[in-house]
Order: sequence, then structure tokens, then C-alpha cells
Amino acid sequence: MRLVVQKFGGSSLSTAEKIHRAARRAIRAKLDGYRVVLVVSAMGNATDDLLALSSEICAEPPKRELDMLLTTGEQVSIALTAMAIHAAGHEAISLTAAQLGLYTDSVHSRARIQRIHRDRLDQELSCDRIVIIAGFQGIDISGEITTLGRGASDTTAAALAAVLDADQCEIYTDVDGVYTADPRIVPQARKIDQISYDVMLEMAAAGASVMHSRAIVFGKKYGVPIHVRSSMTDGKGTMIMNETSGMEEIVVEGVTLKEDLAVIALNGVSNQAGLAARIFAVLGQNHILVDDIVQNIYDEGKLANISFSTNASDAPAAQNLCQQLARDMGFDGVSIDKGVSKISAIGVGMRTHTGAASTMFDALAKAEINIKNISTSEIVISCIVSNVDGARALRSIHDAFGLDKIEPRSNQINEIP
Ligand code: ADP
Ligand code: ASP
Ligand code: MG
Repeated sequence: MRLVVQKFGGSSLSTAEKIHRAARRAIRAKLDGYRVVLVVSAMGNATDDLLALSSEICAEPPKRELDMLLTTGEQVSIALTAMAIHAAGHEAISLTAAQLGLYTDSVHSRARIQRIHRDRLDQELSCDRIVIIAGFQGIDISGEITTLGRGASDTTAAALAAVLDADQCEIYTDVDGVYTADPRIVPQARKIDQISYDVMLEMAAAGASVMHSRAIVFGKKYGVPIHVRSSMTDGKGTMIMNETSGMEEIVVEGVTLKEDLAVIALNGVSNQAGLAARIFAVLGQNHILVDDIVQNIYDEGKLANISFSTNASDAPAAQNLCQQLARDMGFDGVSIDKGVSKISAIGVGMRTHTGAASTMFDALAKAEINIKNISTSEIVISCIVSNVDGARALRSIHDAFGLDKIEPRSNQINEIP
């Protein structure tokens, strides 16, 4: 029997009417002959509201308690969604991660899924019930409640789709698909019909909050097609799938903005083997998420400046760790540039075409936006700019790559012979 995993985000569950609408969609899939697993997020802004409440109580709440608090949002949603399905005359059962057996590591607030028991799921599905799972949460081996990171109900859904070998994972949200840029910032952005796992992964990691990046990792690894679509309409959304030959034709498929980053620079580090390994091992052991790393060598190869970007929320802890490292390793010191954003241009066509970087730099130059840092990989070019320039920078590069047009190709980009 075919199986579908449907995930509803917070904005698609913000009112009783929207919960009924989600329930009706699940029932429709069941009547169409599917076994149905629903994954739901907390209603509307419930997670943000709980976070705000916690900060009224405690400036730096213990992460364990924060996870305990935040997971209540999803528990409300699963129960209400199950009630909506019952009210419509169908059978459903809600399950928390602990009841399901969704195990993670023990890193509170950014835990990773390690294993999912499917016995309970199989049992409920074989009783012809729609099963409703709380997204975003897990338990560790000692039964502690964990969360998977902001926006990670998508990851719960993709992981369940992988475990159950689902025919499809549907992500219902408040936009009708993945766009060439966040449509809230770039009104001319276009919906993309099909996108490869690789490009979507890079877009999500670089700030396209419409999908949680680890969901794409599950989708790709287990070959689950992911359909991002609107919870308010029946139109086709965006299929995230394996790369097809036509996709290489498009040099830049999307542009993204990641706001509120900080760049931390370690100055005058002795240019010796093993020092970078030591620095980043310490940051990793303390669960600091390090983004782009740039190293410049100077003083005839004797010294290096190493800088990296990180989320503003991790910056104070990262700065303290680096200052301690500066004392231990005897380098000059640590400087921090707060209030910066990263804009990125992403596309698999960059593998076979040149000129994307110059188009991007030229667009920023014309907009008189200063680039603080540049990093590139095979299919991504990123620039760090000030937070205040972020939205304007995004609109400039979207325009420069012609992403508002049907054939998104920049006239300044050349195919590699
Ligand atoms: P949900 O509550 O359904 O999980 P999210 O707020 O997490 O929804 O994701 C949907 C939002 O993602 C959209 O409202 C949009 O503003 C934002 N977004 C950012 N980048 C993109 C993009 N490239 N395409 C579509 N939406 C995007
Ligand atoms: N409710 C969680 C959050 O707001 C998870 C999610 O929405 O995916 O981050
Ligand atoms: Mg989301």
C-alpha cells in the first residue's frame, strides 16, 4: 500500500480552521488509498512565544529545560490535529517522539536523529489510523527530551519518510513552493518547479528557511522525493529530487540571505601544522556551529589570520573559547565583527559555466555594497555584508542573475568549453 508523510508547518496550523484544513487533507489522502503519517509543528508562533516567556524567567535557561518547554508546542498540535480528524469521523492517533521511539544524540537544542523505531507506527497504520507525530523533538538514550533545531519538523518528516520508505514526503507551508529567493524580501522571485537535492541543501544551509537542511540530507540519502507546497491551495509546488540533465543549464538557481551572523577573526596565529585542527576541535567539542572559514597567510608565511562566521547566538561563547585559545597558544588576539549577513548564489550550472562570481561582485559594486568576506565552493558563491545591506544585496544579485525571468541565465556567464 502506498504511504505518504505530510508535514504541516506552524503557519499552516495557526488557527482551529487551519487545523481542520490540515486534517481534511490527510483524510483525503487516506481516502485516495494512502497510509498517512502526519508530522506537525507548533501552532503559529508558539515556539517563539515560549522562547520569549523563558527569557522573562531566566536570561540563560538551561538547554535541557528549554527543550522540555519548547516541545510542548508540538504536543498541543498533535492532540488538536488528532481531534480534528476524529471530529471528521476518521481514526487518528497522536504520538510524541518518546512514544514513537525517535532517538537522538544528547545535544540539547540541536540534537541529531540516530534511530527511529517503526513498530508502533506499523501497528497503528495497520489499524487503519492516521498517525500524527510531533515534529522537532526526540529523546536520547536516557529518556531526556531533545529538540532538533529551529525549523526541524521538516527533518522529522523526511526521516520518517525514509524509515517508512514513503512514496512521497509533502511539506505543506505558507508559500506555494521553493522560490528563487525569499519572496518576502524579493517580490519578483519565481517559483521553481524542480530542484536537485544538492542545490536545495545548499540553499537551506545558506538561509532559505523554507526547508530545514537536514531534511534534504535524509531525502537525498534515502531517495525520498520531497514536495514543498502550499497548505492553502491544491497547486503543484516544488519537487526536490535527484539532479536531471536539464538542471545544469541553469547557472544560478537561487539566491539566499542568512542574517545575524558574526565573523570571528583569530589574528597572528603561528602558521604551523595542526594549529587549525586544534582551534576547530575546541569549537566543535563545544558545539559551536562554524560556517565559512577563511585563512590568510602573511609575514612571509610565518603567521596566519583565521576567521570564521557563526550564528550571532553562538558568537559570545565562540569568542570566549577563542580568547582562551589565544592565551593558551600565544597568538595576538581575537576580533569580532557582529551584525553581518551572508548572501549566496547557488546553482549546479556553476560547475560548467564561468562568470557567476564576477556577476555577483559587479551587482554588489553597482549597489555600492561593501563585501567583507568571500567564500566559494563548487556550486555556491557567498559574500559577507553588513546586516543593513543584506536585503538590498539579495535583491541586487537576484536581478543581476535574471532570476525573475523564465530563463534564468545571466548574459555575463559563459559555458566552460
Ligand atoms: P513553516 O511554518 O511552514 O515551516 P517557514 O516559515 O519555516 O514555514 O518557511 C516558509 C517561509 O520560508 C516562507 O514564508 C518564506 O518567507 C521563507 N523563505 C525563505 N527562503 C525561501 C525560498 N527560497 N522560497 C520560499 N520561501 C522561502
Ligand atoms: N516549532 C519548531 C520551530 O518553530 C519546529 C518547526 O517549526 O519546524 O522551530
Ligand atoms: Mg519551517
